Amino acid sequence: MSYVVKRPSARSQWYLPAIFSGMGLTCKKMLRNLFVRDKMQTLNYPEEKYEYSPRFKGNHVLTVKKDGSVRCTACMLCATNCPAQCITIKAAEHDDPTVEKYPISYEIDILRCVFCGFCEEACPVDAIRMGPEWQTPALNGGEFTYDIQHLAYRANLKGGIPSRLDDQERHKAGI
Ligand code: SF4
Ligand code: SF4
Repeated sequence: MSYVVKRPSARSQWYLPAIFSGMGLTCKKMLRNLFVRDKMQTLNYPEEKYEYSPRFKGNHVLTVKKDGSVRCTACMLCATNCPAQCITIKAAEHDDPTVEKYPISYEIDILRCVFCGFCEEACPVDAIRMGPEWQTPALNGGEFTYDIQHLAYRANLKGGIPSRLDDQERHKAGI
């Protein structure tokens, strides 16, 4: 059995043609990006932002009732279903006899979250949703633990996102 050793061609032994060819391609792309911006493969972030699908699962939002309080009933289903175990809830009894429980503390460690959406799917009362936000900048580790104030009332939620289910409506409907 004999092996044939293929020798590189004379052209490929010279690096200069490949270098000039690469530089030519780079210049071509640069000029196209400068003058035909519609065809750019990249965005000028942060001035331009990518539009994700409405189904995108970004940062969490705790929805609110009509009276502005959080819709969560502290049932723990989201925390139980969370594969990253990054949800911590402390429950308390509510003064209103029609409300069984509510969370005095609800925290998500967003650095451990894998954005799987199981919490949203597990919630029986539309109390937690995953919204379109995906930027999570912070200056120290503590700011990556989102509390009720952040999850339900951060500035861009403009007072809170209403839940599709309200306690009073459920009570009236006898659900
Ligand atoms: S998205 Fe997934 S990992 Fe993140 S809090 Fe919800 S269940 Fe946990
Ligand atoms: S967010 Fe939903 S699933 Fe999680 S504790 Fe509150 S009511 Fe239960």
